[in-house]
Amino acid sequence: MKAEEAFFAEQDAKKSKDLEKVSGIIQDLRIYQIELEMQNDELFRAQAEARIARDEYFDLYHEAPVGYATIGEDGCILKANRFLIDLVNREAADLNGLHIFDLVHEEDIGEFRARFRAFYNRPEAKEISFRIDRDNAEVYVTLTGRVTQISDGAVSPKRCLLVAFTDITKLKKSEFELVLAAKVFDSSIEGIVITDGKGEIQRVNRAFSLVTGYEEREVQGKTPAILKSGHHDHSFYVDMWDQLSREGVWQGEVVNKRKNGETYVEWLSISAVSAIDGRVKHYIGIFSDITEKKLNTQQMQQLAYYDVLTGLPNRTLFYDRLKQSLVRAKRNLSALALLFIDLDNFKELNDSYGHAEGDLLLQGVASRLKQTVRASDTVSRLGGDEFTIILSDFQDPNVISLESSKVAEKILAILSKPFQLKEVSYQLSASIGIAIYPQDGEVISELIKHADSAMYQAKSMGKNTFHFFSQQMFKAQQERSELKADLNNAIAEGQFVLHYQPQICLSTNEVVGCEALIRWNHSKRGLLPPGFFIGIAEDMGMINRIGDWVLEQAISQLRRWHDQGIDTLKIAINLSVEQIRDSRLPGRISMLLDRYDVPPDKLELEITESAMLKDTLESSQALQLVKKLGVRISLDDFGTGYSSMTYVKHFPVDSLKIDRVFVRDIFDSIEDKSIVLASISLANNLSVNTIAEGVETREQLDFLKDSGCTHVQGFLISKPLPVEAITKFISNYPAEPNN
Ligand code: C2E
Ligand code: MG
Ligand code: MG
Repeated sequence: MKAEEAFFAEQDAKKSKDLEKVSGIIQDLRIYQIELEMQNDELFRAQAEARIARDEYFDLYHEAPVGYATIGEDGCILKANRFLIDLVNREAADLNGLHIFDLVHEEDIGEFRARFRAFYNRPEAKEISFRIDRDNAEVYVTLTGRVTQISDGAVSPKRCLLVAFTDITKLKKSEFELVLAAKVFDSSIEGIVITDGKGEIQRVNRAFSLVTGYEEREVQGKTPAILKSGHHDHSFYVDMWDQLSREGVWQGEVVNKRKNGETYVEWLSISAVSAIDGRVKHYIGIFSDITEKKLNTQQMQQLAYYDVLTGLPNRTLFYDRLKQSLVRAKRNLSALALLFIDLDNFKELNDSYGHAEGDLLLQGVASRLKQTVRASDTVSRLGGDEFTIILSDFQDPNVISLESSKVAEKILAILSKPFQLKEVSYQLSASIGIAIYPQDGEVISELIKHADSAMYQAKSMGKNTFHFFSQQMFKAQQERSELKADLNNAIAEGQFVLHYQPQICLSTNEVVGCEALIRWNHSKRGLLPPGFFIGIAEDMGMINRIGDWVLEQAISQLRRWHDQGIDTLKIAINLSVEQIRDSRLPGRISMLLDRYDVPPDKLELEITESAMLKDTLESSQALQLVKKLGVRISLDDFGTGYSSMTYVKHFPVDSLKIDRVFVRDIFDSIEDKSIVLASISLANNLSVNTIAEGVETREQLDFLKDSGCTHVQGFLISKPLPVEAITKFISNYPAEPNN
């Protein structure tokens, strides 16, 4: 038993030993398990870290501000990061497998090819700059690269290139801008000067040196004050700096001095360049030399606004000054006077002594006119012999009338002193018209028109005088100028007619002749008597044409009357001075008498005494010839001239026509009666006829007849009549009653 017990005891002991062993193993296994679990955790952690690291690499690769690419040995792109994809503006898929050359701008490809190869061979060829071929935009990059080996799962690793693209577009652009700015600075035709904030010159360009004569090194460190000419006062610069500090810019005209001492005018713009803190770092001055331009402008202005001959303001400047004076007068409620001065008979001097003398005279007149007025008054020459004066800023309208008449008198006096010209000493006079603002016109055109009208009034008053504007006279002048315009066409349009007034022989009581008196059948104003238009026609130089028409009309009428059996009748026609002066007159009369086959003694020419006075010699020569033709001549308006008696002695007249003013007052004025009686007695002594004009009453007629007057003409017998009426009148006379 003991053995058994021992055995069992041994077994038990063994068992418990085994148990001990098993639990030891279990213990170990537990430890092992714990260790494994620990190892597993570490693995997980490592995996997570690896994932994070990979993500980080990925972010870094794609989001880096640099383009990365892996390029195979054949030059094709194997891989590119996002930055590069965006930079070249292509799809990621397009980029894979694309040759690197295809990214390069065509203008840079040549150089790129040559240098790219070197990346594979020479490690020191590290960098190429080129433009990327990207639509419409110029993108500059720098490429750096390194050769490496990648296995990529293949058996033997491949050689490839890792490259980085850096975008340098901005840099390149500012580089360009700098180059450009430097070019502009140097080649600018405008002078440029750059100073620091204190105004000390740092840089100047070539144009600066050309204009000022100073080289850059001569002015560096100095201020632009070295160019001061002394032309501007202190306040000019104070204002300039004031504006510069307020607005940061200043522009204006500056007169400066060159190195050689010469002054010049520049147009200068200054700009202040400030730092972020607002302090001025630099001033940049840009200027151009406008000296010549200014000179040209001045010359142009002189030409455009001043009269070359006299140096006075011309018409343009006169208008301008008058406009300004009017504006001022309106604002200040003041008055101004406008004087129009026209030289009398200036044309005569020009015609007889030539234009050089005329010019000298005009210059003399200009300088004398300037002496008569205040410096503030404008004397201008409008052209020819027309001058104007503006007297302005008179507070009292009464004073201005007085003042302007004083000035006018002064002008007349100063101009009346002889002008010593080159060849002659010339005595001159002028006519002056005065219009006053506000009463004679409120606008420029009206004032000018009215001063002009007043001047014509002064002329018509016998010249060498002045006249203030009058509305009434202006109307008359206007009417006159309207008629003037219409008169031109009157002959062509057949608007003239002749009326005839019978002349009676007092001894036989027969109609022996009639006076042809012209009328103008005006389209708007009806039948106008000669007083309305003969003077105008004379002024316009068309009286000869009218006279020719009258001559032909009258002579052809004589022919018609002859043909009707009225063959004892004479026609008297009136001649103007111009006609008497015209040497063609005798020839023309003779031609017409021939053409219409009319006896010369049936034509009588009436010449006024005043015409004789004006033109003694020429008229007598022409009249002698006319007289030789057998044409009769009568002296019209006899008694109104001054030397009637003397003229009658020299002229081969056939009758004297006593003017109707004497006949009219024959019973009221002893003088008129004496003139009538003296005229009749003179005519009787010379054995020529007397025709009394304007006989309106039986008493006048009887008195004239008793006093020995041979003929009468007047309303008592008949008014002037149209041709049909006069023909009838003649045929019936004296059968029908006179009135
Ligand atoms: P005139 O030669 O002295 O002509 C006489 C003027 O007296 C005419 O005026 C006539 O109508 C007017 N008359 C005649 N009898 C009387 C009368 O009893 N009482 C009044 N109060 N007046 C009378 P008219 O026709 O107006 O002519 C004026 C002037 O025009 C003429 O004065 C003459 O110098 C000029 N004239 C007329 N026809 C012509 C012409 O064909 N050529 C030129 N150059 N002058 C002409
Ligand atoms: Mg007459
Ligand atoms: Mg008369």
